[in-house]
Amino acid sequence: MNIELRKSFQFEAAHLLPHLPEKHKCRRLHGHSFQVEVVVAGPLDARLGWVMDYAEISAAFKPLWEKLDHYYLNEIPGLENPTSENVAVWIWQKLKPRLPLLTEVVVAETCTARCVYRGP
Ligand SMILES: [Zn+2]
Repeated sequence: MNIELRKSFQFEAAHLLPHLPEKHKCRRLHGHSFQVEVVVAGPLDARLGWVMDYAEISAAFKPLWEKLDHYYLNEIPGLENPTSENVAVWIWQKLKPRLPLLTEVVVAETCTARCVYRGP
């Protein structure tokens, strides 16, 4: 039996997308309430009755949240072009070593647009 867990986080941050044309609205400095969903999947622990503790997911994400929340994303090494896609990959690369069951990182800049990365 393989079961999936999804844990949501939010961070506030500013960014601009430096490679877009000057007139594109995303080329201007602006902010988002980014929504992140961290997804893990694995077998059910028969005795505990769960895949893993949600608190472990939170603990693994916390150091990343501390780097992202209320920062200017373009100044973070590896996020010089902080599209949702690149933020999702950046989170995956930092999270996967700490969270081997990771299967998906979802990043949403707005309520209606989200990006899903499922690893290399
Ligand atoms: Zn934006």
